[in-house]
Amino acid sequence: MIISIASGKGGTGKTTVATNMAVSVGSDVQVLDCDVEEPNAHLFLHPIIEEIQTMTTPVPEVDMEKCNLCGKCGEICQFKAIVVIGETVLPFHELCHSCGGCMEVCPTKAITEIGRELGVVERGHRNGIEFVHGKLRVGEAMSPPLIRKVREYARSDALTIIDAPPGTSCPVIASMKGANFVLLVTEPTPFGLHDLKLAVGAVRILDIPCGLVINRSDMGNREVWAYAQQEDVPVLMEIPFDRRMAEAYSRGEMIVETLPEWREKFLDLYHRIENLAA
Ligand code: SF4
Ligand code: SF4
Repeated sequence: MIISIASGKGGTGKTTVATNMAVSVGSDVQVLDCDVEEPNAHLFLHPIIEEIQTMTTPVPEVDMEKCNLCGKCGEICQFKAIVVIGETVLPFHELCHSCGGCMEVCPTKAITEIGRELGVVERGHRNGIEFVHGKLRVGEAMSPPLIRKVREYARSDALTIIDAPPGTSCPVIASMKGANFVLLVTEPTPFGLHDLKLAVGAVRILDIPCGLVINRSDMGNREVWAYAQQEDVPVLMEIPFDRRMAEAYSRGEMIVETLPEWREKFLDLYHRIENLAA
């Protein structure tokens, strides 16, 4: 089963829920941190990294000796990532989505592929938990290709917990697509509610069952609960503010280790998801 843990808004406790649920399940579980622009699950899981791989994506290179300036490559590219200007053909690698279309249509085979570095994928372990995260190269604008590389590590014989990036744009969709369940983490504030509505909209388009964790549930107002009821999104867990949790977080410690009574609650959360996904 793949559970994607997302939130419209950053800083709601998404990583806390992902890592504590993984540690509570304990074995045959993977954490894939797909927040490749700012991965932080490793700060809590403290995995031993065993493998580091540089990931690349194919982009076009043009041999002007073979090019006849027909312009077909520029016509097929939907992203304006290759253009014919005067007597030359210019590829813009930062805009390229690696579809291979320009290479296919080139009548003179003037286009070949080279690799553009996306970042690195690191894989390791912590006790029974397999850990994988991506780190996007500084300056790289497109994170979905690296997120897809991280997701390639998902195993069918394990529980896969994906820590998705915040927001509702392409990187989040790349982290939620194909999941069996999306767990949305929010907080009961006007900002939390606003971004939750966007996140629920995205999950509905993908047609994936979803549920809600409300963090700092004893603060703010009750509008998030009213919205959840109105939209028929089950509230699966409420985490009230607790100074001991905030202190554990600031030290990079797991809640379930600092406050062991929460282990059962996170395990219960997983079982409720299991039932809803089934
Ligand atoms: S590979 Fe696709 S996206 Fe990239 S330049 Fe060629 S046609 Fe455009
Ligand atoms: S399709 Fe090939 S031959 Fe035509 S302009 Fe592009 S690179 Fe040159």
